[in-house]
Amino acid sequence: MYLDKREGATMKIVQERPFNYEFTCRSCKSQLIAEAEDVLVGYFGANYGGDRPERLYYVTCSVCGTDKTLEDGKVPPKVRAMADLKEEKR
Ligand SMILES: [Zn+2]
Repeated sequence: MYLDKREGATMKIVQERPFNYEFTCRSCKSQLIAEAEDVLVGYFGANYGGDRPERLYYVTCSVCGTDKTLEDGKVPPKVRAMADLKEEKR
């Protein structure tokens, strides 16, 4: 757990990079920008012949409701943590 190393850190944050994920909805072609609170986590792929569903972070198009999954590398740890928390509350 590399996050543990941050306990007691005194480093100043000059600018925290906000999470903005710009994407084009594959269904309605709307261009959208998702923010940290828009990211959710869910299970995908079970209906495409996969043996078990893959747990993926995703955002939902606010125009047509189509889900857009995010590559893990595009989701910062903090945003993942927020999405994980929402999953537990369900
Ligand atoms: Zn859409």
